[in-house]
Amino acid sequence: MTSPQDILQTIFGYPSFRPPQDEIIQTLVDGGDALVLMPTGGGKSLCYQIPALLRTGCGIVISPLIALMKDQVDALRQVGVRASYLNSSLDANMAKRVEEALLAGELDLLYIAPERLNQERTLSLLQRAPIALFAIDEAHCVSQWGHDFRADYLKLSVLHQYFPKIPRIALTATADARTRNEIIHRLDLAKARQFIAGFDRPNIRYRIALKHNAKQQLLRFLKDEHATDAGIIYCLSRKKTEEIAYWLQGQGFHALPYHAGLDAEIRADHQSRFLREESVIVVATIAFGMGIDKPDVRFVVHLDLPKTIESYYQETGRAGRDGEHANAWMVYGLQDVIKLRQMMDNSEGGEEHKRAEQHRLNAMLGLCEITSCRRQVLLNYFGDTLSDPCGNCDNCLEPVNTWDGTEAARMALSAAYRTGQRFGVNHLIDVLLGIETDKIAQCHHHQLPTYGIGKALDNNQWRSVFRQLVARGYLSVDLERFGALRLEEKCRPLLRAEEQIELRRDIKQKVATRLTKTFLPEDIDVALWEVLRECRRELAGEQGIPPYIIFHDRTLQEMCVAVPQTMEEFGELGGVGERKLEKYGPAFLQAINEHLASC
Ligand code: ADP
Ligand code: ZN
Repeated sequence: MTSPQDILQTIFGYPSFRPPQDEIIQTLVDGGDALVLMPTGGGKSLCYQIPALLRTGCGIVISPLIALMKDQVDALRQVGVRASYLNSSLDANMAKRVEEALLAGELDLLYIAPERLNQERTLSLLQRAPIALFAIDEAHCVSQWGHDFRADYLKLSVLHQYFPKIPRIALTATADARTRNEIIHRLDLAKARQFIAGFDRPNIRYRIALKHNAKQQLLRFLKDEHATDAGIIYCLSRKKTEEIAYWLQGQGFHALPYHAGLDAEIRADHQSRFLREESVIVVATIAFGMGIDKPDVRFVVHLDLPKTIESYYQETGRAGRDGEHANAWMVYGLQDVIKLRQMMDNSEGGEEHKRAEQHRLNAMLGLCEITSCRRQVLLNYFGDTLSDPCGNCDNCLEPVNTWDGTEAARMALSAAYRTGQRFGVNHLIDVLLGIETDKIAQCHHHQLPTYGIGKALDNNQWRSVFRQLVARGYLSVDLERFGALRLEEKCRPLLRAEEQIELRRDIKQKVATRLTKTFLPEDIDVALWEVLRECRRELAGEQGIPPYIIFHDRTLQEMCVAVPQTMEEFGELGGVGERKLEKYGPAFLQAINEHLASC
């Protein structure tokens, strides 16, 4: 009898389980149910794939992401697992063949869309087939409160009624307590063992820099750290996604726009090029994301501030699903804060709704302005704790200096107050710096006691002060008078000298946080890395599948380090099981040998 460990090694080519994969697998092998909450990239798939191979019959995987089924099935076939899928993309004949294979016991895994599964016909088919287990992927789709609710998921409780003896596993990366309870309740999983792994994505490096010239900063970031990588750049407006994409094309990058206003055909084309080609950058609104299961997205950029930490975490979470180093990089500035504050005020909905939105925006701004570990704040927001600073965010890598901004803050507040709370930040800074402008003359602001009292700081420093005062809720942005800053209740103790305020000292270039060195191991032969990528590209092209289905970056990296010369050595690499060794070992060994000979 083979063990889970044997299958992990011989089929998937990995040396060891990541806890709690082994426990989950054992639970299912023994016939029990499981509820699994694991972050993206944590390794959920093996938790049902391996038990499906160990138990008699076929494992049925219910997934809402039809577009991904083909890739998932391709990946499994690559390692020799007999996998298929049933969804609306198949014609009647193809579907019939899959059904026959299932009945004949010729399948290890079958992916089915939920609406298909709920058909009487499918249920009766499954009753006649040998079934190893049911895996309900993206189980949070049962939650009516979430973004991804699918009515068809509600009906999945029939599984338990029709197949009481067959183990079920529900999996999700969305883990708040309410969603979890809904999953348990609606899918009848009260007796399931729960496996809850933390939210953390340790391989993602969180960085939030001050925006001074967003395009140039972006260009520097891409050139220094991601010259040939695939990534996603999020912008707020459709227009901006196109503008940035075309501009990046002019700079030599393979960048494509994506937003809901583009033709469906163009959208599908851009999405599929992103998945199938290497080094494609998609510049998108938030319309791009759901169902993007590309493992080697090396960076996610935000050029505009997301409205909530939830969106920020979800969007940045699309980076580094393969567990390799990835960057979540954002630039933000005073204008972002003002814009979002205004949008909030403008939004529809009752007072309570607005308050909730304000609260969430404040948390997001807090994350931007925080001077301690970003990951601790992020995890804390989701109810997780991280006892020590992470060492992999900008604040950890390059500690932020703070300064006593009490005096400056008082001057800034006083400038706003004495000008009648009717002016925006630019004018207030002119007042503080004692600049002679027409507006100042017109409004007689040169007669104010605050006129020219702020010459110890420069324009940028004042912007930084105002940004932090707005972000932290001392000043609000007046809608009626475009961008006028108004004092909030919170100012009182500060103005009365009952409170001090520490401000962040903004720095421009963050060299220590760059990721260039860490992604590729030190001292590897970069030329060999390129040779291997080319070899992978060719093999993928021949079969019309994405390169990462041949081997993940990690496996190529290991090749660069170990430089295997024999099939035996090649088989030792992580991600190389028996089938891939046989199928791809010779081609890669040849590429390696030719490269060595040419050196
Ligand atoms: P999830 O579905 O949780 O987002 P996946 O199942 O796609 O994650 O796994 C993410 C990556 O981790 C995949 O590349 C997978 O091959 C790899 N992986 C999973 N388990 C292991 C393991 N035990 N050892 C090494 N790599 C693993
Ligand atoms: Zn940190």
